[in-house]
Amino acid sequence: MLFPLNLEKNLLRKLKLKVYFSLFFLKIIFLDLINMPRYRNSRQDKDQSPYKVKQTAPSPIKTFIDFNTQRVCPSCGKAIKISHNFCKFCGVDLSAIEAIGNSDEISKQLAITAATDPDPGVRKEAVDTLGDFGEKKVLGVLTYVLLNDPDEEVRKEAADELGDLHHPYSMEVLAKALKDESPMVRKEAIEGLKKIKRKIKPEKQHKGKPEERAEDEPENKLKDESED
Ligand SMILES: [Zn+2]
Repeated sequence: MLFPLNLEKNLLRKLKLKVYFSLFFLKIIFLDLINMPRYRNSRQDKDQSPYKVKQTAPSPIKTFIDFNTQRVCPSCGKAIKISHNFCKFCGVDLSAIEAIGNSDEISKQLAITAATDPDPGVRKEAVDTLGDFGEKKVLGVLTYVLLNDPDEEVRKEAADELGDLHHPYSMEVLAKALKDESPMVRKEAIEGLKKIKRKIKPEKQHKGKPEERAEDEPENKLKDESED
């Protein structure tokens, strides 16, 4: 009787151990299953965060302009009240330049399209057409587009048209566009500056303002020296 009882005890002990072990492993697997989704989510969050930042960073249009109440300074590109004849930011005289919001309905509508249409191809066409008008009142819109449009092709077109209009005020904004992220725009800005310089040079010789004469002086000195 003793022997089988001992054997039974041994068997029982072995069985108990087996149950303990299996329970232990089951517990590990169970805990893993519970923790897995949490772990996965935390990893996903880490992976997604840079994408979230990338998605929110570039906005389609940097600033919104209402041409009915505002005008854009053709020199510094900042928005001011439509009634202002002087730019409160850079101080240039705007009395000789009509605000597009005060002009005819077609020009105003074209300006709104150039600044706000969702399609870059349409904005580019509007900029091109405004440039063809060849009037000073479009300088502000073109300046705004050059500094704010998210599409490089549209900004390039604005730089091109500003060069063709060759108003001295545009020198400042074209100089700003030399820091544009697109090489295409920077190149067109250089071309624009060249066009304006060429056009205002003859006037410079006639008027000969003190600051402009100072600019010419080094050249004259060099000429004098070479002659001697
Ligand atoms: Zn200004």
